[in-house]
Amino acid sequence: MTDFGGAIRQSDEYRIAVLGIPYDAKSSYLRGAALGPKAIRAASTGLSTNEFTEKGVNLELDTVMTDLGDVDAEGDYERVSAGIQAALEPVLEKGAAPIILGGDHSVTYPVIKAVARKYADLDILHFDSHPDLYDELYGDPHSHACTFARIMEEGLARTLVQVGIRAASPPQRANARRFGIRLIEMKDISDGLELEFRNPLFISFDMDALDPAFAPGVSHHEAGGLSTRQVIDIIHRLRARIIGLDVVELNPTRDPVGITAAAAVKIVKETAAEIVLGEKR
Ligand code: MN
Ligand code: MN
Repeated sequence: MTDFGGAIRQSDEYRIAVLGIPYDAKSSYLRGAALGPKAIRAASTGLSTNEFTEKGVNLELDTVMTDLGDVDAEGDYERVSAGIQAALEPVLEKGAAPIILGGDHSVTYPVIKAVARKYADLDILHFDSHPDLYDELYGDPHSHACTFARIMEEGLARTLVQVGIRAASPPQRANARRFGIRLIEMKDISDGLELEFRNPLFISFDMDALDPAFAPGVSHHEAGGLSTRQVIDIIHRLRARIIGLDVVELNPTRDPVGITAAAAVKIVKETAAEIVLGEKR
């Protein structure tokens, strides 16, 4: 049951649509991210949180958020990829904002393919400890470590900004230069990061952007990351029209007390509020 503090309503007149993608076959290390959508939904129930966000948006009354359930994530990558795009089409046609619950980060490539058909000029803000810019990993061009190489070589984004990076390897740095990506690495981040985007903005949030102290429930524990507070502050200070979000790589098998799922819920709520505020501007 998804709830987000009582905000979810089943209605065709929705402005924000939650969609789960329980798929982790493209994880290079551990499986478990396929359980992410279920864990985020469970952590979002109204008894543990309310419908208000930090800026005072009431997600129950100020918008219509619906839950479209999960995409069928059985079968090979091509089939799942086609299913993701088909599921997103009606959401985007309506002009509503998709909020995707992953899944490993490979799901973002088909998500962006669908989103870029609606928004020809699209900017992406990508939170991650990894740039996910390998040409291929272990022979697989669709590994979760290759997502943003695929997106950029297809020209699906005008601007890509990556925040929280602390595991960039030389081939990934070379691709970052090749594609003109702005890397905001952990070593260079201080508080008060303010980002501005000219085009409609999609946010792709890999939970391992957060420090493992705040988000242990991920497959790759890369120490030295963002605090949950820093992330929320960056989202609050964005000058952009946000048109969608994915939250990926939550691995509930490494999240014994659900602290990572709770952080994911918070990120969804605060981003949903920015979407609502953006519509009113
Ligand atoms: Mn990633
Ligand atoms: Mn990552």
